[in-house]
Order: sequence, then C-alpha cells, then structure tokens
Amino acid sequence: MDFKLTEEQMLLKEAFRDFARAEVAPHAAAWDEEDHCPVELFSKLGELGLLGIFVPEQYGGVGLSHTERVMGLVEIARYSAGLAMFIFTHQLGMAAILDFGTEEQKANYLPDMCAGKTICGLAVTEPGGGSDVAGQKTTAKLVDGKWVINGRKCFITNSHIADITIITCKTGENDKGRALFTAIAVEKGTPGFQPGREEHKLGLKGSVTGELILNQVAVPEENVIGKVGGGTSIAMKEIGEVGRASMTAICTGICRGCLEESVKFANDRVLYGKPISKLQAIQFHIAENRLDYETSELLLYKAASVKEEGFPATAEFSMAKYFSTEAAVRASKRTIELMGGYGVIDEYPIGRFLRDAMASISSGGTSEIQKIIIAGDTLKKYS
Ligand SMILES: Cc1cc2nc3c(=O)[nH]c(=O)nc-3n(C[C@H](O)[C@H](O)[C@H](O)COP(=O)(O)OP(=O)(O)OC[C@H]3O[C@@H](n4cnc5c(N)ncnc54)[C@H](O)[C@@H]3O)c2cc1C
Repeated sequence: MDFKLTEEQMLLKEAFRDFARAEVAPHAAAWDEEDHCPVELFSKLGELGLLGIFVPEQYGGVGLSHTERVMGLVEIARYSAGLAMFIFTHQLGMAAILDFGTEEQKANYLPDMCAGKTICGLAVTEPGGGSDVAGQKTTAKLVDGKWVINGRKCFITNSHIADITIITCKTGENDKGRALFTAIAVEKGTPGFQPGREEHKLGLKGSVTGELILNQVAVPEENVIGKVGGGTSIAMKEIGEVGRASMTAICTGICRGCLEESVKFANDRVLYGKPISKLQAIQFHIAENRLDYETSELLLYKAASVKEEGFPATAEFSMAKYFSTEAAVRASKRTIELMGGYGVIDEYPIGRFLRDAMASISSGGTSEIQKIIIAGDTLKKYS
C-alpha cells in the first residue's frame, strides 16, 4: 500500500494547479454569474494535455491514466466546478470511443478531441429514463444501410456545443423481451439533429445542459460505437467509472475550496481581539471540512486504483461519488455558517460552492441510486 504520488504525478498536479490559478480562478465568479461556458479555454486545455491525458499517444493523448485525469479535474473544480463538468463530459464521450470504438473511429475522432478542437458528449437520459435507464424511448432503425434515429434526450451536458454526441438508442429486444440499446455517434449538423431547450441550473454554471431533439436523423451504419445492442453496457461502464470518478473529483475540488476558504476566513476575521480560528467551535468546523476533503480524496484514489489494476470498481466509485457529493454540500453549508453574515455575500465563493455541490448530486446517478449499488455489492460480498 503506497499513498504517495509519483514524481511525475506531483509535477502534473502542480502544473494543473498553476493553470487553474492563472486561467480559471480569475474568471470563475463571472462564468457563474453570466452562466457562461468558457469554450474559448478549450484549446488551451488541449495544449495543457488535460483533455486527452488518459488517451494513448497514438490518438493524440498523453498516454497516462484516469488517475491523472481526476487529479486535473480536482484542481479545475477547486475554482470552477462548472468548467470541470464541461471537461469531464467531453472525456466521458471520448472514453466510450476509446474503450469500445473501432480503430478507425479512434483515429478519426480522438486526436481533435484531445487537442480541444472538437467537443464530445454522451446522451443517455430522457424525460422518462434517468435512473430508469430501460425507460429510454429514443429509437434507431436500420434503413438502407443507415441508422434512422428519433427521440429526445434531456439534461445532457455539452448539448448545445458538442460536435459529436454518443447517443444511446433502442434498437431491438432480446429473446426475453427486454429492450436493447445501441450507442451511436451523431455529428453536429446532421439533418434533423438539433439542441432543444437549454436549462438554467442552480449550480454548475459554466457548463451547458439541455435537450437534444432527434427527428429522422440518418447516420452511417459505421457510426455505431461497440456492438449493436451493447449500448447499455457502454453507458453503465463509462458513467459508472469515468462519470462517477469525475463527479467525485468535482466534489473533492469543492471540498478543498471550502477548506481553504474557511481557514483563510478564520485566520483573518478578528473577534474579541483575536482571530476566530482561536475559537474551539470554529476549529471543529475546520476539522470537519478537513475530514470531508481528505475522505473524498481517499475514496476517489482508492476507486481509481482498483480500476487501474483492472478490477471492477463500480461499487468503489459509487461510494466515492455518494460520499463526496454529500460531503461537498455539508462542507459548503458549514463554511457559510463559519463565516457568519459574510458567508451569504456573493463576493465570497461559498454560496456558489453550495449551489455547485447541490447540482452535483443527481448527475451520474442520484444518492439513492449510489446507495442501491453499494448495498447490492455489500450484500454479495458480506453475506
Ligand atoms: C447538471 C447535470 C448534468 C447531467 N449531464 C448528463 C449527461 O451529460 N448525459 C446524460 O445522459 N445525463 C445527464 N444528466 C442526467 C442525470 O444522469 C440524471 O439526472 C440522473 O440519472 C437522475 O435521473 P432523473 O433526473 O430523471 O431523476 P429520476 O430518475 O426521475 O429520480 C427522481 C427521484 O427518484 C429517486 N429514485 C429513482 N429511482 C429510485 C430507486 N430505484 N430507488 C429509490 N429512489 C429512486 C431518485 O433518487 C430521485 O430522488 C445530468 C444531470 C444533471 C443534473
């Protein structure tokens, strides 16, 4: 058991932190206030290597792993959870292509995505199918060598800005009558494919969330990612591992923000002739913020290491996601209280942290869904 980062990881972490301080921190409040998604930063994120850090060099990536990827996301999310959301959803679509795509699809799509020249997304959720994945109604039918897609997706990150979206569609049923879904890459500008309503969210502003409308959208047969009928496995693997790891990274970043802001405020704010950091009740808040941050981080890297060793890590990522999202809500509420009246003033970022943390709970599956996964695994392992 080794809790140390390698020298390369330490250097990377520093590079990500420097980037976040220089390019993200100064603008994070304005992106939130203006609900602006900073697409203008995307090519710089490509140059930094973060977008394709987990992608092999032959496809334009850095050739490292998801561990280094989440390390970068934590640093970005420390200042802007919304930007981290935008980046990770792009990576979620890329991961589906990398893990399940053909050689041609990888060579065709991944280099520009690593460079930040094109934006990717993954669309599963529908009005009747969020937690209930089998409730998806979007269909794809093979007609004269093309998949013709009809339906509507909702709550999709990067909906209005993605160049390529991996969309799960119902393509048939198995012999027990259960719906089979297929993942299909749909490019922006394909006739009949357009974004619908753009949502205005409580938090995670700085990322775009909205509907996708598909009306007789015809795409080549070779746009299928993985096997026909294999879409649910692709969605479950990528959301279960890449998606939940990323939501954990985002919430770990929020927790670190709470920790740093609470320490700074408690040292600066003088009451009764001394900083409030001398008051034991304030120290209790700081201790709890530290625990929420470090526990989230530990669960994140534990789950990531299980995945890197090639073992299934679904329950580990569910534990990390559940704990960290709830921890981020707790830590931001606690930090607001520690700051007294200042905590609710917009000049400080804590109100934004609370909104971002709340908005993180359902993305990648709600807390109830995570607990169902954890309980299922526990009942198997401990019975
Ligand atoms: C900011 C944001 C970004 C998102 N980005 C994407 C994206 O890029 N792509 C994508 O496909 N989706 C995306 N989503 C959708 C997200 O995955 C869904 O919101 C999530 O799966 C929950 O689905 P739902 O919102 O339909 O809630 P519902 O499934 O309708 O749940 C409603 C309530 O019922 C509870 N519930 C549901 N089933 C059970 C059960 N079996 N037992 C106990 N309680 C249950 C839930 O916990 C919740 O409290 C995003 C969501 C958000 C908020």
